[in-house]
Parts: sequence; structure tokens; C-alpha cells
Amino acid sequence: MNEERLNKIHDQCGWHEDAVRASNLAGCFCCLAIFPSAEIAEWVEEDPKCPRGAGRTAVCPKCGIDSVLPDSLWFELTPGILKEMNEHFF
Ligand SMILES: [Zn+2]
Repeated sequence: MNEERLNKIHDQCGWHEDAVRASNLAGCFCCLAIFPSAEIAEWVEEDPKCPRGAGRTAVCPKCGIDSVLPDSLWFELTPGILKEMNEHFF
């Protein structure tokens, strides 16, 4: 996958409460788990003063890192994508 696409996917790992709640599944590219998005219990409140403004970011229920992607987007949430994201961003 090219860098631009990886960065575009990375944009979806924060400020994504609506997308996560609309998803059946979510995946974490830190620990590579895929889990029902209903398992997400913890959210980061983003600082309204930051460039993207206020928003909420899911925290992975498995590893506690805020690197969760919803499955309701324009890319397919697969173990392969999570692995590629992990290698690129961690
Ligand atoms: Zn995780």
C-alpha cells in the first residue's frame, strides 16, 4: 500500500466517534486485535484547541492504545491492513 493511502487511513484513527459507533467491528493497529466496537469503553477527549478541534478518540480495549480504526469506512478492515499500519506507524 502506498504512503498516501496509509496516511489517509491513519487520519481515521482519531476524532472518529461517529464512525466507530456506526461500525460493528473495530481494529487496533498497535496490538492487531479486531473486536466488536461495542467493547470500546474508554475514549480520549481531544483538546478543542488542537488543529482538528474537539472530538473523541477510541482507546483499544485490548492494549489501551488510541490506535483504533472503525470498519465502516472506505477501506476494508483486515488483519493485513492492521499489520501494514503497525509496521508503518509503530
Ligand atoms: Zn490494541
